[in-house]
Amino acid sequence: MRKIRARTEPASAAEIEKPDEQWREELTPQQYGVLRQGHTERAFTGEYVDRHDDGCYRCAGCGAELFRSGAKFESGTGWPSFYEPALAQAVELRPDHSLFMRRTEVVCRRCGGHLGHVFGDGPAPTGDRYCINSCSLSFEPATTSGPGGDGPS
Ligand code: FE
Repeated sequence: MRKIRARTEPASAAEIEKPDEQWREELTPQQYGVLRQGHTERAFTGEYVDRHDDGCYRCAGCGAELFRSGAKFESGTGWPSFYEPALAQAVELRPDHSLFMRRTEVVCRRCGGHLGHVFGDGPAPTGDRYCINSCSLSFEPATTSGPGGDGPS
């Protein structure tokens, strides 16, 4: 299994900083536990495990675009799995040696929210498996606007 290399530079300051109390108010208790406390939702319980329609997955904490449906694959793990982030700079990778394991944590770069972990046993083209908690994400279906519809502004 390929090793994922986390960046060794110090964690950068998140663009969005909020007092803990505010996060607690804005997020559901489950989202707060995952995004702000690094918990993991139970396998096969998340709402996006089996979702495969076109769209993008945004951070449930700050709305940053993190993953796209095109990179989502069926991992059988019980968590939404992607072979790459929407943009490399959308996420930050940090070494995580908790629970007596060597893992690489995936964090939203914009708000510092915990998303999940990345492993080196994913499919082509990257070989990466971003194993992400459903509740840290917010799915936005692709718009099917025809001519004259809402374009990017
Ligand atoms: Fe975020």
